[in-house]
Amino acid sequence: MHVHMVGNGVGGSGGWLRLKGWHRALARFMVRQLGMPASALEGDLEKIYAERLLKLVRESSLDAIVLLAHERVHDTDGTPRDDLGSMFVANDVVLDLAQRHPEFLAGVSIHPARRDALDELDRCIARGAVLMKCLPNCQNIDPSDRCYVPFWKRMADARLPLLAHTGGEHTVPIVNKKFADPKLLRAPLECGVLVIAAHCGTSSGAFDRDYFDDWVAMLRAFPKLYGDVSAMVSLNRCAHLKDCRRPEIEPRILHGSDFPVPVLGHRLWLDRSIEHERFRQIQRIDNPLERDFEFKKALGFSDEVFTRAEKLLRIAR
Ligand SMILES: [Zn+2]
Repeated sequence: MHVHMVGNGVGGSGGWLRLKGWHRALARFMVRQLGMPASALEGDLEKIYAERLLKLVRESSLDAIVLLAHERVHDTDGTPRDDLGSMFVANDVVLDLAQRHPEFLAGVSIHPARRDALDELDRCIARGAVLMKCLPNCQNIDPSDRCYVPFWKRMADARLPLLAHTGGEHTVPIVNKKFADPKLLRAPLECGVLVIAAHCGTSSGAFDRDYFDDWVAMLRAFPKLYGDVSAMVSLNRCAHLKDCRRPEIEPRILHGSDFPVPVLGHRLWLDRSIEHERFRQIQRIDNPLERDFEFKKALGFSDEVFTRAEKLLRIAR
């Protein structure tokens, strides 16, 4: 339930991708490890990427994935700040893909300060969105801002879950570091929204603050709070992956991959969570979605972690 759509707008989607400095090198690395040519970044990226992704899902153990749109940075008065972001994937891109392929479920992305935020929310719900994703620290959203209460209430009424990035971030530029704090998500929770804290508040690098314990403390107070283990089979974000199996935590965990973020299980072998032979077997799996799934299975995550999304997301049956 956490796979990123990416695109550059070459095919007319209205999206864009602007990579500066080391993000450019990172994007090239990601594209190559997906088995796509580096030239895909300049071609019709939405089409090339969606086709590749569809093939990967069909060849994996997964039935479907939540494909995420990516909202632009906005000021609190609703003014878009394209100078601050690195990409934009419009909601219709994922809504259209989800309409065409049962393997894709649409995770839309709406900045609640947008002047048309409520209209866009209604429109996306009517078109079949299964959740709303945002990155508060990268898109400049303070979830505790009282101005957003009507937006959260509308989401709660429609039973549309919020997937919010928590903890540090290295693949998208940071706009406001303090919005990485999961405690700010109390506001949507108090409005009745089911909230999934992406990465469970874990840090993304050595200099980030780790909010994992804050998130765990909130689980007791908020029964509608969950977390996802996306991007946790990695060199930088895996410190709490095993903690997520604790009996008081695992019932609140959902599987997510954070594709196209690379899946590297080396630290699971180094800290002896997985035997060397098993590590080598899994790390050799070409399909990154399957590799991530197999690492989590090898760690002992229960089947419910991989199927819980079906119960919690707004999936039409
Ligand atoms: Zn992500």
